Amino acid sequence: MRNVLRAPCPVCKQEIEYIYQTEEIPYFSEILIESAVCTCGWRMADTFILKTGQPERSEMRVSGEADLSVRVVRSSAGTIEVPELGVTVNPGPASEGFITNVEGVLDRIEEALDTALKTAEGEERERALSIKAQIEAVRRGDESVTLIIDDPSGNSAIIRNPKDAGGAGEEERAGQNSP
Ligand SMILES: [Zn+2]
Repeated sequence: MRNVLRAPCPVCKQEIEYIYQTEEIPYFSEILIESAVCTCGWRMADTFILKTGQPERSEMRVSGEADLSVRVVRSSAGTIEVPELGVTVNPGPASEGFITNVEGVLDRIEEALDTALKTAEGEERERALSIKAQIEAVRRGDESVTLIIDDPSGNSAIIRNPKDAGGAGEEERAGQNSP
């Protein structure tokens, strides 16, 4: 979709073109790009994620190799939780949005555990080592966990390609577009 709207420039008031263009990200959402340029030098550009009924909370069961490649978008406001591992990744002032896959999320958790293990002792160390072993079992497909992403801004999602794995139920809502 591309729409052009004629309206005054906010600076010099001459009439200019505001362009609204949408771009489709497969199995995810449409992005709206708004832009305008004026001969006086004023310009603007912005993007918006257009979601139709996109839940703020995405959840999936990770139970095998095929699940590791499912795409994960986490905005800076998103919380990642894996209850079976007792792991929660909270948003914070320094947190960044990222696009990865389920395997990438597990890698990040493992990296955090490795960092903790450099100084952890006793019970804390035991716990970190047991979570690492659990992650390995999930990678092999011997164990399954739940991946939950919660985002009040609505800009995080688990994006399962509906053509893959025939993901029925819960997971299917994440990343579904209206027809
Ligand atoms: Zn102008």
